[in-house]
Amino acid sequence: MTRFAVPGRIAVSEQAAVWQTATLTEIRRETPRAATFRLAVPGWAGHLPGQHLMLRLTAPDGYVAQRHYSIASAPDDSGHIELTLDQVPDGEVSGWFHTVARPGDTVEVRGPLSGFFAWPGDRPALLLGAGSGVVPLMSMVRHHRARGLTVPLRMLVSARSPEELIYAAELGAETTPVFTRSAPPGVAVGRMTAAHVAPILAEQPATGWEAYVCGSNGFAEHASRLLVAAGQPVERIRIERFG
Ligand SMILES: Cc1cc2nc3c(=O)[nH]c(=O)nc-3n(C[C@H](O)[C@H](O)[C@H](O)COP(=O)(O)OP(=O)(O)OC[C@H]3O[C@@H](n4cnc5c(N)ncnc54)[C@H](O)[C@@H]3O)c2cc1C
Repeated sequence: MTRFAVPGRIAVSEQAAVWQTATLTEIRRETPRAATFRLAVPGWAGHLPGQHLMLRLTAPDGYVAQRHYSIASAPDDSGHIELTLDQVPDGEVSGWFHTVARPGDTVEVRGPLSGFFAWPGDRPALLLGAGSGVVPLMSMVRHHRARGLTVPLRMLVSARSPEELIYAAELGAETTPVFTRSAPPGVAVGRMTAAHVAPILAEQPATGWEAYVCGSNGFAEHASRLLVAAGQPVERIRIERFG
């Protein structure tokens, strides 16, 4: 149990104006380990798909924990944003969200951060993610759909099993899932390989692909090696590591 385990008692800091109060309005389970948390942030300035924010929890004794989280929702003017968090064993912040947080609770957020991993929707995008690394990529997919964009977009996403595939019900023809431990009948089990990446790179749109890779350090290394081996220019690979 985390030291934030007192419902409704997260203090809102009056510190920097850049920190904004975010009120939890909805919790949706995605997989046994991941859930989506919808937050009302009335002063949210907007974001680009792929960006993240800094989230701050303050305990009643003043102890503060800050973590980065990618924004899962597409940019819109609803005054809400969504985050999807994996529950990390003994995780301070993800543990609070998964075991304590209830609609009506408040946290603080500051952002959006990082322009480097943003995709404004202006160029063909090849997205490679693993586990919760799919979160910022899903913001891109949702943006692509919401705006009816015609620029090519493909996503390869790796999960341990179909049950652990985040956003499974929402994924469409743009996405190829890769399962590392168990898969539906007739689908191979194993890591992402050149056989997944090369056919997409071969489709090569006129302006080439911009590749976005997100996940653990190990996955980021593996996926970027596959891309380079398949001919993707290194300077057109953008990587977000979740640590
Ligand atoms: C730019 C960026 C965006 C991110 N976006 C997301 C996101 O969209 N969704 C999401 O779920 N996470 C995301 N993360 C990871 C997130 O910031 C936290 O690291 C994660 O939620 C764990 O925090 P915690 O307080 O729960 O665990 P902590 O209390 O920090 O850690 C508890 C224990 O778990 C280990 N640990 C920490 N993180 C992980 C991990 N990811 N996997 C396995 N073990 C771990 C620690 O070493 C420690 O032993 C992102 C990270 C970065 C840098």
